[in-house]
Amino acid sequence: MKLIMLGAPGAGKGTQAKLIADKYQIPHISTGDIFRANIKDGTELGMKAKSYMDAGGLVPDELVIDLVVDRLTWEDAKNGYVLDGFPRTIPQAEALTKALAEKGEKIDAAIDIDVPDENIINRMGGRRACVACGATYHIVNIPPKVEGKCDKCGADLILRDDDKPETVKNRLEVYHEQTQPLIDYYKAEGVLKEVDGTVDMNDVFNAIVQILGA
Ligand code: ADP
Ligand code: AMP
Repeated sequence: MKLIMLGAPGAGKGTQAKLIADKYQIPHISTGDIFRANIKDGTELGMKAKSYMDAGGLVPDELVIDLVVDRLTWEDAKNGYVLDGFPRTIPQAEALTKALAEKGEKIDAAIDIDVPDENIINRMGGRRACVACGATYHIVNIPPKVEGKCDKCGADLILRDDDKPETVKNRLEVYHEQTQPLIDYYKAEGVLKEVDGTVDMNDVFNAIVQILGA
């Protein structure tokens, strides 16, 4: 099963992608996580990506596309994957369609998690991410068992630099300008599926499972 998660930053793509990956036993491929890991490791890619990310902008297509196309050739992705945060621009979507077509493949579903901008501001302000394993929480909606500590590995939880209010506004603008057009792109491809992302995370997940099939 080859899936794409669409939706504004903070809509719940990562939260749902992790649940989907567990249930359907496919890898969760998050370009944001890949960039954050590269920043942490001080790689050249990380250094290039950091300035764009900190400003709430997008990393240039040429730094993203080859990275993902290569990642999809890994052994663990042979039975499918759930892409989270990619594609984010029309050229990225076109490159993905082309790379898959060359292998006689296509995306099975692009799941758009619909959440209005008002809720997004609250979601991103309250998001806390684990410094070690990347698990995410929300201080009110999905709190960890022990404040400030990851349930899964016990490491510290932090507010991402790009979740600070001044950056969130820019990220939302970038989303509306560059990423939202992908909804029409995948509608035209006949694979768009929409779910209401404002309800409880378990209800969002149930709606996705209804669409994908148990
Ligand atoms: P994205 O990957 O789309 O940027 P996340 O999955 O990281 O979004 O979710 C953003 C924030 O909202 C996190 O703090 C997460 O815990 C919280 N969240 C995710 N899904 C829901 C939901 N259905 N209801 C309330 N809060 C949610
Ligand atoms: P995310 O974790 O998906 O919210 O991504 C965090 C940041 O990483 C984004 O705000 C972008 O700066 C960058 N990023 C992640 N994926 C992409 C992508 N497909 N194209 C461009 N930039 C990306």
